[in-house]
Amino acid sequence: MTLKLKHNPIIIAGPCSAESREQLFQTAKQIIQSVSIDYFRAGVWKPRTRPSSFEGKGIEALQWLYELKNELKLPICIEVIQPQHVELALKYNIDAIWIGARTTTNPYSVNELAQTLQSVQIPVMIKNPMHPEIKLWIGAIERIINSGIQEVIAIHRGFYYYGNEKYRNKPLWQVPLELKTIFPDIPVICDPSHIAGKKEYIFEIAQKAMNIGLNGLMIETHFNPSIALSDKDQQITPDELKELLNKIKFLNNNSSDPIFENTLQNLRQIIDEIDEDVLTLLSKRFDIVKQIAYYKKNHNVTAFQLSRWKDILKSRKNLAKELQINDTFVHHFLSLLHEESINIQNKILNQPEPEEKQQDYDNKRRNS
Ligand code: PEP
Ligand code: MN
Repeated sequence: MTLKLKHNPIIIAGPCSAESREQLFQTAKQIIQSVSIDYFRAGVWKPRTRPSSFEGKGIEALQWLYELKNELKLPICIEVIQPQHVELALKYNIDAIWIGARTTTNPYSVNELAQTLQSVQIPVMIKNPMHPEIKLWIGAIERIINSGIQEVIAIHRGFYYYGNEKYRNKPLWQVPLELKTIFPDIPVICDPSHIAGKKEYIFEIAQKAMNIGLNGLMIETHFNPSIALSDKDQQITPDELKELLNKIKFLNNNSSDPIFENTLQNLRQIIDEIDEDVLTLLSKRFDIVKQIAYYKKNHNVTAFQLSRWKDILKSRKNLAKELQINDTFVHHFLSLLHEESINIQNKILNQPEPEEKQQDYDNKRRNS
């Protein structure tokens, strides 16, 4: 029985790399036995970070994919890096292509691909660049749209960062959401495999992507990930794919129920008012910061005092815990607030004529 998904997100599955005819056929057959997918993916040319890694089977793999498409009636997508890859993809009847993260990083390469795409129509998917420079992603999308391509899909695959953290690539969810506001008509799908780096994290990332309204998933799937020639830790089996898609809750973007809309509007109004209060309070807080700055300046005291910062962190974190606010969030929030306070104080410490300002504040306080 093929699993049909209720809300029609775009689902793409298949191995990281096309390794052999047998690997492609085994994987594809097992996938379509239990899941309905929009495209079968496979990397034919692999732009690898290190030269000793597996770099793909090239034209040989295109022939396997051509046979697979015809035998299994399965639409195929591959990654293209250079213009000749586009030409070969078209020659071998590939149904859609994607531009990888390393290529999106280079506007010159994207331009070359866009030029080759000028006289053809094929869906083009564009992964985010390696680092979170959203303008590169936007630029790549614009270049492809300008080439005349009508079906464009963005793929969020996370961002490189230095050091070891839980995931291989940082999701930075605000970036795909910002992209959605810039291109409201372009679907943005998530590649949880490359964000996760390890198969055990794929579900939580995929679910989050669906919760924030992304439009589909690209999931690396291999009939036997333990023998995969690339990205073996993040690939799942077709059975695991079925389980994962069964478990994910796919949500609607909107509801046509008028009561729902009304309630949502009321709750949003409350949020708007709370935000106004928060900003007004912040402005009051910064006023006091300025007052302190003039005071410190008159007494030749530094803007930053470690003991005070430690006290603030400790007491606010305790309060946040009582109020059940996430500790990491509070830490980021306080750090930002503290940084801005120091910037404000620093500006004042560098200003001439502090006494008058201090007198202004003293008078203000006396009169209020
Ligand atoms: C891939 O999809 O296999 C790949 C190499 O992805 P990315 O460009 O996101 O690194
Ligand atoms: Mn991969």
